[in-house]
Amino acid sequence: MAGSAVEGQEAEAVLRASGLRVTRPREAAYRAVRAMPHASADDVLQAVRAELPNASAQSVYNALHDFADAHLVRRIVPAGHPGRYELRIGDNHHHLVCRACGLVTDVDCVADDAPCLHPDDDHGFRVDAAEITFWGLCADCSAPAGGQGPAAPGRSGAGR
Ligand SMILES: [Zn+2]
Ligand SMILES: [Zn+2]
Ligand SMILES: [Zn+2]
Repeated sequence: MAGSAVEGQEAEAVLRASGLRVTRPREAAYRAVRAMPHASADDVLQAVRAELPNASAQSVYNALHDFADAHLVRRIVPAGHPGRYELRIGDNHHHLVCRACGLVTDVDCVADDAPCLHPDDDHGFRVDAAEITFWGLCADCSAPAGGQGPAAPGRSGAGR
């Protein structure tokens, strides 16, 4: 059984199949990325520590680095934001990133093959990927007067 069934496999089996030494911080880190697509390293650290209070930050950061090297996870780095990790690798999907809260959402690519965009002039490069990030405000952040705004009627305010 190769690759395709990774979703349902135990973290331990996935790590072992990738030739990584199985440790409890690594298992916990892998499960955290599976549970939280686009988690930052700090998100993962928090999740690991909920399980293993003594896990060192370095062990978790190293684990993520090793996962990326082993192509178990994909690391994306939206400009100005910490890197995010996800298990959805091997397809050519893109990301929507909220400028305000940093929410990252997957969007499918309309093309089957990478790269889905080609430069007018490739300057002799053999282009194999186009990394596309759509920037904007997520639904929550662009909603008029969301949760924290003074939108409640009867609270006087700017009534004109
Ligand atoms: Zn947002
Ligand atoms: Zn993604
Ligand atoms: Zn695309």
